[in-house]
Amino acid sequence: MNKKTLPCSIDTLNNIVNAHSTPFHLYDEKAMRDNAKALKKAFAWNEGFKEYFAVKGTPNPYLMKLLKAEGFGSDCSSLGELILSEKIGNIGENIMFTSNDTPAHEFKKAYELGAIINFDDISHIEFFEKQIGALPELVCFRYNPGALKEGNAIIGNPEDAKYGFTREQLFEGYKICKSKGVKRFGLHTMVASNELQEHYFTETAQILFDLVVDINKELGIDFEFINIGGGIGIPYKPEDTAVNLDNIGQAIEDAYNNTIVKAGCAPLKLYMECARMITGPYGYLVSKTLHIKKTYKTYVGLDACMADLMRPALYGAYHHITVVGKDDNKEKFCYDVTGSLCENNDKFAIDRQLPKVEVGDIIVIHDTGAHGHSMGFNYNAKTRSAELLLRQDGSVIEIRRAETLDDLFATLDFDGLDNFKV
Ligand SMILES: *Cc1c(COP(=O)(O)O)cnc(C)c1O
Repeated sequence: MNKKTLPCSIDTLNNIVNAHSTPFHLYDEKAMRDNAKALKKAFAWNEGFKEYFAVKGTPNPYLMKLLKAEGFGSDCSSLGELILSEKIGNIGENIMFTSNDTPAHEFKKAYELGAIINFDDISHIEFFEKQIGALPELVCFRYNPGALKEGNAIIGNPEDAKYGFTREQLFEGYKICKSKGVKRFGLHTMVASNELQEHYFTETAQILFDLVVDINKELGIDFEFINIGGGIGIPYKPEDTAVNLDNIGQAIEDAYNNTIVKAGCAPLKLYMECARMITGPYGYLVSKTLHIKKTYKTYVGLDACMADLMRPALYGAYHHITVVGKDDNKEKFCYDVTGSLCENNDKFAIDRQLPKVEVGDIIVIHDTGAHGHSMGFNYNAKTRSAELLLRQDGSVIEIRRAETLDDLFATLDFDGLDNFKV
């Protein structure tokens, strides 16, 4: 169980709503930083442990800078994410570049920044060498364990996933790189998404520990690190339970001692590249009720829409909803909570039991801190909301303004229309 609370008092929230127009995402700095500290503590046994925050989760440089202050690096997979990371001063091996189907210019930027380059495919070794004229000093490969590991709903089965090398390709790839003079090596995998079962992460680490030992034996390669990817889930539903980071840390430490230390492969640094569990629970989409509509069902129409949060429409994902100030109302009604897109799946909740909602009520949608604002799109010529940060001292700053129609139309030449004869 986890209680879905607001990051501030109702009075404070009302003040924020009055000072900034809805909708907006509101992030809680203190909770985010406390959580970052808890993650580091759980893995403090591993010298060199590092979390590379997966930028795609919440690509806002203000949040990235907060996480950098907690010692986190950046996990990037595109040119834009590399540039965001550079902007906050995360460069060199503070960047893990885990891309796939990678264009040459993105490899080039990652190489110039000195990022750890994580190849997604064996053919990328030759591609990189040809395009860049050298291999990175440190080479990491993404492993796809195939049938060795079950997937889950969001990421699918590893065998069907487009990512990573097969086991045979790993051996061949490291051999090629070693023969070309590469001296520093890492190994990566990412097989879970939004996973709440703790044993999943220990098993993932164990698979990589075993591979490190096998590859070391066969090729004489000493690995510097393994990266077990992201994918730690968060309790979206009140009845879900958050993972216990200390349990995961302890179980992976045991596996490390039994495998890596025993085989003489220590020290080996442990890296992670989570996004969801880092920022997800600490973001809130704050919206206002515009309309109540009664037809065959009852609809609560918000001023937010899929442009601000796609997950419910995309995955049928559950996001908890609070009708601000009405938590104590015992009587519940059944609602579909919708946005305004001409797209019937633009719904934040279907058949949700909520206290009686009235026009003007503030509605808070929980757990939007990762894969929330960042997934937004401009379908139906809708603009995306602002992002606000609730600072540790209680002040609120805007860390991204809302998009305007000028932003949306910036790629159009309206003047050209006059010369466009039809
Ligand atoms: C999306 C992604 C992550 C972060 O995933 P979470 O589930 O948010 O932790 C990390 N690494 C890679 C390669 C990803 O694609």
